[in-house]
Amino acid sequence: MSDQYVYYFGAGKAEGRAQMKELLGGKGANLAEMTNLDIPVPPGFTISTEVCSLYYKSNRTYPDEVRTQVAENLDRLEKEMGKKLGDKNDPLLVSVRSGAAVSMPGMMDTVLNLGLNSSAVEGIAKNTGNARFAWDAYRRFIQMYGNVVMGVPHDDFEKELNAIKMEKGVKADTELDANDLRKVVSSYMAVYERTVKREFPQDPIEQLWGAINAVFGSWNNERAIKYRTINKIGGLLGTAVNVQSMVYGNWSETSGTGVCFSRDPSTGENYFYGEYLMNAQGEDVVAGIRTPEPLSSLESSNPEVYQQLIGVKERLERHYKDMQDMEFTIQEGRLFLLQTRNGKRTGKAAVKVAVDLVNEEMISRENAVSRITAEQLDQLLHPMISTSVKKTLKAIAKGLEASPGAAVGKVVFSADEAEKWVDRGEKVVLVRSETSPEDIGGMHVAEGILTSTGGMTSHAAVVARGMGKPCVAGCKAIVIDEDAKNFNVDGIIYKEGDFITLDGSDGAVYAGSIELEKPSLGAELNELLSWADEIRHSAKRVGVEDGFMVRTNADLPQDAKLAVDFGAEGIGLTRTEHMFFDEAKLTSFRRMIVAESLQERVDALKPILKLQIEDFRGIFRVMDGKPVTIRLLDPPLHEFVPHSEEEVRELAKGLGTEFGKLMRRIRGLRELNPMLGHRGCRLGITYPEVYDMQVEAIMSAAVSEAKAGIDVRPEIMIPLIGSAAELEVLRANAQKVIERVLNAADVRINYLIGTMIEIPRAALTADIIAPHADFYSFGTNDLTQMTFGFSRDDVGSFIPEYLEKKILSVDPFQTLDASGVGQLVEMGVSKARAVKPTLKAGICGEHGGDPSSIAFCYKANLNYVSCSPYRVPIARLTAAQAVLKAN
Ligand code: ADP
Ligand code: MG
Ligand code: MG
Repeated sequence: MSDQYVYYFGAGKAEGRAQMKELLGGKGANLAEMTNLDIPVPPGFTISTEVCSLYYKSNRTYPDEVRTQVAENLDRLEKEMGKKLGDKNDPLLVSVRSGAAVSMPGMMDTVLNLGLNSSAVEGIAKNTGNARFAWDAYRRFIQMYGNVVMGVPHDDFEKELNAIKMEKGVKADTELDANDLRKVVSSYMAVYERTVKREFPQDPIEQLWGAINAVFGSWNNERAIKYRTINKIGGLLGTAVNVQSMVYGNWSETSGTGVCFSRDPSTGENYFYGEYLMNAQGEDVVAGIRTPEPLSSLESSNPEVYQQLIGVKERLERHYKDMQDMEFTIQEGRLFLLQTRNGKRTGKAAVKVAVDLVNEEMISRENAVSRITAEQLDQLLHPMISTSVKKTLKAIAKGLEASPGAAVGKVVFSADEAEKWVDRGEKVVLVRSETSPEDIGGMHVAEGILTSTGGMTSHAAVVARGMGKPCVAGCKAIVIDEDAKNFNVDGIIYKEGDFITLDGSDGAVYAGSIELEKPSLGAELNELLSWADEIRHSAKRVGVEDGFMVRTNADLPQDAKLAVDFGAEGIGLTRTEHMFFDEAKLTSFRRMIVAESLQERVDALKPILKLQIEDFRGIFRVMDGKPVTIRLLDPPLHEFVPHSEEEVRELAKGLGTEFGKLMRRIRGLRELNPMLGHRGCRLGITYPEVYDMQVEAIMSAAVSEAKAGIDVRPEIMIPLIGSAAELEVLRANAQKVIERVLNAADVRINYLIGTMIEIPRAALTADIIAPHADFYSFGTNDLTQMTFGFSRDDVGSFIPEYLEKKILSVDPFQTLDASGVGQLVEMGVSKARAVKPTLKAGICGEHGGDPSSIAFCYKANLNYVSCSPYRVPIARLTAAQAVLKAN
């Protein structure tokens, strides 16, 4: 740890810079950076995050050195400003602001106008000749200090304010004059004393430390902790505290405050976007109390400031090379910047901004690819209302298109209810007049969010965009009655539990549950993903010359088609058993399972052969020119037969056999632990005719399609191999069938025969098995099951507790356990390649679509990952990111 705890910014020079986020928090680091860029920022100083961590370690106290440095920096600030904290005539006022390394909007606390007391307020009034402003600042300070530092409920103050407004017969705060505000101050004082049982502190230094303690304290308030949990933010020292001289947006009618984005955070359009309020301070804009004005009206009302603001936004964007989210205040026509950060954005905006910044030559393609997160991309693959359905609908109300995407769910009116309903398995839409940071948990579980007040930068809008949730904000037509748990639109009542549908892309609200469609990739996303593909394809690793590929797991031609549209470069797994569940095949297959003689079995398989050929032909056609890995039958036979007496009777009738005999046969198939039983290649060994039939179907389909001009690349995959001898036998069997089919058709087709590595023993003996395999595919679902000794079907009963108690940090069936199961994968690859240096290896487990597992697969030198069709775009992106990160 360094000896410096406090960092000054002011007089055109700062001790910090943008790179010091860990230490100064994002807000502090960027205030320093802006100061160094000569952008107008009110001077101040930042108390580092190290102090936050020291504060908690030493039982909420500070080392003396911290107090000394704060005093020194305050002194420096007072000198620069030519004002003193608590001065009777011309006092310095400061804000005390939180700010961690990762932005947590609205989660922690800030106090404005600190330094006011009953004599300073008079001083300001006299000195500025603006008594109204002075008393407005004071009442705001008492309220914020009371609430943030002493925990006096916000509403207790608001009630007093409303009473005075009512008495005067006005609606807006701005209609209160100095005298009214004086009254507000005295009733606020009474509220404060009633709750705190002490007088409001008059000593500015006591105020300052009270606020600093409160900001450090807010690091561990409930909502901040919850926010960090939801967003998986860990490993930070804490928050920094920024003490900054005040500028006043509430000074006069030529003063104001606002927030703006250098581009549209919802769509990514290069359009200067923001909202502001004149004669207002700080959080008035986001609090949704008054409806803010769009920036375009600032352009007409105050073109000079507007031009200045444009200049600043362009400089900041070019400097940070990213879309900026800024806070500004205008004091008497002068512009000040209070904050800048890389703006939170929807997935759609993230992609658009990244692609535009490349085209504007601000960033490289690699940089663009590394900026998009899997979650952002995931949002773009979420459901929407199709345009054809849209035409037939009539919205019950329209609000602001605050966060795109469609959401269907049952109406609930509180965050707590949302969490309860979702726990019961319901889908909900959270409907509130406006959300606040306490609602974060409910917002997280809701399908979408609807608010009746608040603008595009309101809490609901900002948070929803960050979470990628559809949100319609400021929908004034809906009148919410929270107590009665309903809302009213034009006289029609919608109750808790009623379905509604939101379209966050155009602000429409519909009654009922509307069917949604999956979207396709847009032009920008396609461009970005093509850059990701270039990065993947040019990656070179030992034993893998042709890049890092993305395949898909698809059992049906239509799934394969979808995956190809999403950019899949082959099929890594076709599960043939899914084809058997088709009614026509199922009966024949059951006949084969319960057959008593070889001949009976062979006969039963005949009708299936024809049907399977058709399945495979469809897939080969879609995958023209791309490899197709088809796995031979894997699951235990008993999965295909009925078990209840009634069903067995019916089957007996269908098969024309005797019930008792059939029942005995089915009982005989029962296994205690079927996933470790008679399945996979064990079926191939005991019933070779099943695998023979499947191989024949695959190759016959390949022959037919090849003759029709399709470039077929079959890869036959044998599951659940545990020893080389199994594969040796089954490979010989398959080859015999293949040669027979090819000779009969008189064509040559290149094919591969390989195996899954999913039993630990196979990984351990990968070098002994390799001579019999043309490729390996790691079946990491089974491999995880058998390495942990966790039955996949039963983990639900204990994994949640394991995760909660941190015995496991992640669910190993979701994210590949790199340190355990991963070793078997690495060992399998390297042992196999010691024998066959270019043996192709991939992964086809659920992990193939998981970003951190994909990164692992790259490092383990796998040729490809294979995942479900909808994960393919995410795999393309994250595979490229893995390549960039490794280089
Ligand atoms: P948050 O992290 O919740 O946005 P901030 O610390 O940014 O909290 O402050 C809340 C509001 O007060 C913002 O609108 C900010 O611009 C404003 N504000 C903070 N410090 C000052 C200051 N010194 N002068 C004027 N406005 C300020
Ligand atoms: Mg802020
Ligand atoms: Mg398996």
